[in-house]
Amino acid sequence: MDIKNPDARFSFEFFPPRTEAGMEKLMIVHQELAALQPDFFSVTYGAGGSTKDGTRQAVTNISQAGSAVAPHLSFGGSSKEEILTLLESYRAMGVNRLVALRGDIPSGTGVASQYYYANELIEFIRAETGDHFHIEVACYPEIHPQSDSYDKDIYYFKKKVDAGANSAITQYFYNPDAYFYFVDNCEKAGIEIPIVPGIMPITNFNNLQRFSNNCGAEIPRWIRQRLQSYGDDTASIRAFGADVVLNLCEDLLAGGAPGLHFYSMNQTEPVRQIWQQLDLR
Ligand code: FAD
Repeated sequence: MDIKNPDARFSFEFFPPRTEAGMEKLMIVHQELAALQPDFFSVTYGAGGSTKDGTRQAVTNISQAGSAVAPHLSFGGSSKEEILTLLESYRAMGVNRLVALRGDIPSGTGVASQYYYANELIEFIRAETGDHFHIEVACYPEIHPQSDSYDKDIYYFKKKVDAGANSAITQYFYNPDAYFYFVDNCEKAGIEIPIVPGIMPITNFNNLQRFSNNCGAEIPRWIRQRLQSYGDDTASIRAFGADVVLNLCEDLLAGGAPGLHFYSMNQTEPVRQIWQQLDLR
């Protein structure tokens, strides 16, 4: 397809596996997706630092396998010294991109006192490591669930940009108008960094519903109704989901989106199918 933005970039997100077998499987998925030549992979970071070692291990493995990789990072329950050590270890292995987040800290973990907003983490990274890292941040076309208002959320997004963020990846959404309206409003607020849509393939209705309830992403009624009507028919859910997400990607790229970031859920096929139909490389 024709891409309106010639500098469009593409990336795939993983979460860190909890077991050795999971890590081996992840590295197979990585190899399969690396063949599609994305610009980089990213690896999520668990709430409260719970997956710190898993994230670092996955980042190390992906980096050693020859791919550019962006670790996600949040203060969570860690001290500034611990975060600095982690940053230095990433720098030593050649990592030059990060996804900086506040993160979601589960209640009852006792780490509320170290609950830093993402803009504070970015200020810290810039103060300690200068311009070494390209810093990605999260943003929310349908607005962060804890935000007081649409304008406030954009105001705090701008704080992250002013603190030194270079580009942003959105929460997933299925309504392209929400994205384009958000981008317009960000531009009006003086936000000039690329805002890359986050794309969630649709493979399982119950999981999607659960994620969406937690993160505030809307599943449009027509999509919900259709998915519900398939019941346990996984093949039909996947086929319909692939169609919906392919159309979404096409609309976004034709409308000038500066790339796509796929939430792979550590699976090859849903992303590869969309990618091949988009015919991007
Ligand atoms: P922030 O930008 O800090 O914003 C959080 C909320 O506080 C918003 O409502 C904002 O409007 C408000 N706010 C921001 N700054 C201030 C301020 N200075 N004062 C008052 N209010 C403020 N979660 C994980 O745990 N691990 C991950 O690896 C991970 N990866 C993600 C990747 C992407 C691309 C996205 C979109 C989300 C990801 N998340 C991840 C989820 C994310 O951590 C949550 O959405 C979290 O609740 C907010 O993180 P943030 O960095 O956007 O927070």
